[in-house]
Amino acid sequence: MKVLYPGSFDPLTFGHLDLISRASELFGSVIVSVLENPNKKSTFSIERRIEQIQEATDDIANIEVVSYKGLTIDCAKQYNVEIILRGLRAMSDFEYELQIAHTNRTLNNSIETIFLATESHHSFLSSSVVKEVAMFGGNVEHMVPRMIAKDLHSIFKV
Ligand code: ADP
Repeated sequence: MKVLYPGSFDPLTFGHLDLISRASELFGSVIVSVLENPNKKSTFSIERRIEQIQEATDDIANIEVVSYKGLTIDCAKQYNVEIILRGLRAMSDFEYELQIAHTNRTLNNSIETIFLATESHHSFLSSSVVKEVAMFGGNVEHMVPRMIAKDLHSIFKV
């Protein structure tokens, strides 16, 4: 069975990576779909985000990294996937994630959303926290793969 893991991944963190690697054990294949959202200014280009994820998941065989625009359920349909995976860090994620899952059911009720709880030691991690730390010159090497830490340091020139 295939699963679609959609997100902005701007950039990928060890929290995302943990979810991807656990999903790759649970499912036959994982399609990581990187959202190109014209309404949200991203730090990294879509091409760079895809390269970052590809490099970080080099040792995982059953993974594909793609980009998409528009609705996640349309992307799921395009890749013939019936399960969407999302991660839960805390109660604050739950409300938002539940709303999206319900909305997606109203758009296409043959697609299910499943959730994996984050490892507790990754529960503080988000792409925006990583950027905030990097922006002020803090060390992010325990939060993101090395290539991404380098990218962040060169973007924020620290
Ligand atoms: P979006 O902008 O769609 O929320 P993100 O790239 O921020 O995309 O996150 C994609 C998915 O990964 C979401 O389901 C989010 O809850 C989950 N996620 C983000 N950070 C972590 C983490 N530290 N541990 C586990 N899951 C996470």
